[in-house]
Order: sequence, then structure tokens, then C-alpha cells
Amino acid sequence: MPYLTSAVGNASSIHGFGREARDGVEGARNILARVLGCASGEVYFTSGGTEADNWAIEGMARSRRGRRIVTSAVEHHAVLHTCRHLQGRGYEVVWVPVDAFGVVDLEALESALDEDTSLVSIMHANNETGTIQPLAEVGRLARARGVPLHVDAVQSFGKLDFRVDDLSADLVSVSAHKINGPKGTGALYVRKGLEIEPWCRGGGQERGLRTGTENVAGIVGLGRAVELRVAEGRDLEVEAEVLRDRLQQGLLRRVEDLRVNGHPQRRLANTLNLSFRGVEAEAVLLDLDLKGVAASSGSACAEGEPEPSHVLLAMGLAPRTASGSVRFSLGWGNTVDEVDYVVEIVPGMVRRLREMSVFS
Ligand code: PLP
Repeated sequence: MPYLTSAVGNASSIHGFGREARDGVEGARNILARVLGCASGEVYFTSGGTEADNWAIEGMARSRRGRRIVTSAVEHHAVLHTCRHLQGRGYEVVWVPVDAFGVVDLEALESALDEDTSLVSIMHANNETGTIQPLAEVGRLARARGVPLHVDAVQSFGKLDFRVDDLSADLVSVSAHKINGPKGTGALYVRKGLEIEPWCRGGGQERGLRTGTENVAGIVGLGRAVELRVAEGRDLEVEAEVLRDRLQQGLLRRVEDLRVNGHPQRRLANTLNLSFRGVEAEAVLLDLDLKGVAASSGSACAEGEPEPSHVLLAMGLAPRTASGSVRFSLGWGNTVDEVDYVVEIVPGMVRRLREMSVFS
């Protein structure tokens, strides 16, 4: 709050107000560096995960000679659309397939890496299913070929305990709002010595690589969110998992023809993605909303897109099954009563929608 009310200096100004803001920004940088296990000079603040992903991929593509980018078929749209954009500009993009749980095929990934590859970009945990990728192996393969690795860790940061070296990552994207921080703030870790094109040019902030007046309150909020997560992290994840499993088991018991998407074990603790046969996810979401329950289909960022999720299709789901998939994400403050309420209302909702559906 002080950074929205009284400490409103520009972090680049040399007067007292500016120095106060600068202290806030550098404090947040140190917190991120500590948690990521890197030097604070390797942390660059951005406007969120999307910008971090765009910068990592385009910045690396432009700074290296190689024309090939290797990524997976289940990446977030921030990576997917950036890679497609580069594809349209003459880059060759290899989309590594995944198995039925959404785990990347390591053999396909290994055979995709060649001397012409300028970057591998693989997410840590999937935003739709929560499936966690075997990044230590991905990192080893990339390292063995001398190819830099970008990891979109937007979903895992603050939830899974990792350091950038555990992932063998050269670039890591994170975002504040996935851990209850302010929306519109994130960061990119860039390994020291890695050559990457600046994201934008101007006054020289963020060591000239991501210039522009810093969003001081957002950055301080990101640092504070990380601190709170690290302090409470373990209990929060355990709490989320207990609630998620209660929701999953309750619905599996009471709704027929229900499929759980994602890896049964290697999955984020708070994510539950379900396919309801014979219904459209949007109809379930509208009914849930009327009853005060917030859920989503696909990724929240792509809500309104009519196509079924590219993630679920890549995992081998039929388009109609993918169209009936809903994601429940449990968060800080959710209660057993709320979970039980969802378990109580969903079966009747699905039964009614199935009766009305032409597909059921
Ligand atoms: N990457 C993943 C895996 C995400 O889940 C998201 C947001 O949902 C993003 C990137 C984009 O981050 P932001 O919303 O901070 O732009």
C-alpha cells in the first residue's frame, strides 16, 4: 500500500522519493533472486508472464543465428502464438508431442535438437491440466546440445520448490498474479552472459534490456507475494491438494462418464481439469457462475475462443470431449464447505444439461 499512496517516487530519480522507490524495486529483485537461486542482476521485471515469454523467445531468436525453435504442443498461448508468429517469419518451429497425460515426449525432443536450434521452450507446469514436465531431463538434453532452454514457470513459481539450476534453465518466466500478487507484473530470469536482444529500447531501465519506468507498486507486490508464498508455501500446497482431491473424488463418485485430465501424480496440487461427456463446458460454466462458483474452460486468457483446447487435443482427446472440459483451480482461502457445495450442485447441473444435449 505505501507504494500506491505515499512512496510514489520514480525509481530512476535520484531524489529521496526516487531512492525510496528504488529500494522497493531492488528489495523485490533480491527476494525473487533468493527464491529462484540466481543473482539479483539476472532478474528483469516485466508486465507479466506473457511479456516474459514473448521476450525470451523473440529475444533469443533474434540474437542467435539458428532458425529452429523447439517447443511443445501444450504451451500457453503466450509461447504458442509467439512461436507461430516466428514461424510466419521464416523460423522453423518443431512442436514436440505429448502423451495422454500431457507429458512431453523426450525422445522426440532429443531428436528435434540440431545445430540450427536457437532455443528450446518448455513449460514447467501446464495451466490447463497442471501436468508437470520432466524439466531436469529436458534441461540435460538441451545442455548436451548446447541449446539454451526457456522455461515458462508461470504456473509453478511459488508452488513448486525449484531453483533455476534444478531446471538447467537459461531463461525463466514468472508472473505475480498466479500467487495472489498484483496483476500485470512478472519477471524474466536471464542467465548471466546469455546473449539476448533487448525487449524494448529507451531510457535504459532494467540494465537496458527491458527499459521503461518501473511499475514500482506491482514489483513490490510481486516480491511480497513471493515472500508470503515461501513463508506459507508448503501448507498452502498441502491444503490445496486435500481440497482438490476431495473435489475430484466427490465428483467422480457422483457424476457418470467423468474423465480427469492431466497426470495423476505429477500435477499441480490446486488444478483439476474434468471432461463431462455430452455437455458444452460453457454451459456448465454459466450455470456455475449463476450459483456463485468461478471456474474456467481451457485457459482463462483464451476464454471466448470457440475452439476446443489445443492442450487437450494434443493429449489425444476427441474434440467433443475437449469441448466439455472444465478447469477448477483451488486457491488461498478456499474451504471444505465450498468444495462440498460444488460436489452437491454439479451432478444435477450435468444431468440436466445432458438431457438437453443433442450429443449425449
Ligand atoms: N504462461 C502460463 C503457463 C500461464 O498460465 C499464463 C497465464 O495464465 C501466462 C503464461 C501469461 O501470464 P500473464 O497472465 O502474467 O501475462
